[in-house]
Amino acid sequence: MAVPRPAPSRRSLLRSGAYLGVTVLGPGASAPAPARAEGRDRTAAGYPPTHWIPAAASNYTVADRPTDHRIDRVVIHVTQETFPDAMRIFQNPAKKVSAHYMVASADGYIGQFVREKDIAWHAGNWDWNTRAIGIEHEGWVDRPEYFTDVLYASSAALTAAVCDRYGIPRTRSRIVGHSEVPGANHSDPGPLWDWDRYLRLVTAQPSVRR
Ligand SMILES: [Zn+2]
Repeated sequence: MAVPRPAPSRRSLLRSGAYLGVTVLGPGASAPAPARAEGRDRTAAGYPPTHWIPAAASNYTVADRPTDHRIDRVVIHVTQETFPDAMRIFQNPAKKVSAHYMVASADGYIGQFVREKDIAWHAGNWDWNTRAIGIEHEGWVDRPEYFTDVLYASSAALTAAVCDRYGIPRTRSRIVGHSEVPGANHSDPGPLWDWDRYLRLVTAQPSVRR
């Protein structure tokens, strides 16, 4: 089946800052948090720039991780939506779904929708949700042209930083696909997601101070 490539106009539309004029914050400042949580929810050094775009409050569970639930894995997703459409889903209180982060295909822009201390609803498995950071990637499982160099690189920097912050080994057993979650009925990120490349990029990232 022929798969149409995104038109150039669409690609340029997806450049950073195109996402509804959201506030752009540097590392260490992207998740507004109560003062007492500062320093635990964010790490200043080495964290890739992220952009705070809060999900609807009814689409995740407020928690106090890693105090009340350990964080010991990262779940990799592919949206099956455009970034803006997935963003609107996270912001729709009726959808009951969210992820901590979403990475844009065209430029590696990272939106953060749920604070890491809170439990995003992405894995389709409550136990896994409580212990995971969920990262969405803009694209479709059968359209590998969405898995761009910059998407892999940006996501790998994020995953490496998350792993270091919570002491998660940067290994394939701790960085897993949604399709590998027990009970999950989703197929993402799919066989076209280049796990070897991704793990190489993740492990090549410099260590981030916790
Ligand atoms: Zn998924």
